Amino acid sequence: MARPFKCRRVAFMPGVTYFKPAGIPLRALEEIRLTVEEAEAIRLKDLEGLEQEEGAEKMNISRPTFQRVLASARQKIASALLNGRAIRIEGGNFEMSPLRFRCANGHEWEVPFEAVAEIPPQFCPTCKTTEIVPLQTLGTGWNRGGYGRGSHRKRGWQKGRINVIK
Ligand SMILES: [Zn+2]
Repeated sequence: MARPFKCRRVAFMPGVTYFKPAGIPLRALEEIRLTVEEAEAIRLKDLEGLEQEEGAEKMNISRPTFQRVLASARQKIASALLNGRAIRIEGGNFEMSPLRFRCANGHEWEVPFEAVAEIPPQFCPTCKTTEIVPLQTLGTGWNRGGYGRGSHRKRGWQKGRINVIK
């Protein structure tokens, strides 16, 4: 019997999703597909320097699963680098983390990723101020479409619609 699948949580979408070695025509290249959650595991462990335990917690998965995803990601990247393969980051089984916002008066709240992609929050639900700011780095690429599933494919993050506190 198949185990019930647990969705891996991802908090960042890479802006660049295709890498190729210089000087090799595209048709002669072998391509390696890195899933979005593999990229996230690399980001958490190798870029942010989190412990595996923390990375697993952020992605809402067990530590052995995190370790497996990370090992797979590293193996693919190493192979691309040393065997001259292209890397495409796409797909996988994941859901986007809810996004946290804070207002100028210090209230914090979470909004589901899909809801933010559809209509970014315009004011604080508690005090109604429009001076709100997202508390996390939002991926730069996901409004171009092609990631995951759901409505954020078409309409993405509109940076200009959040009033950033200066
Ligand atoms: Zn508020």
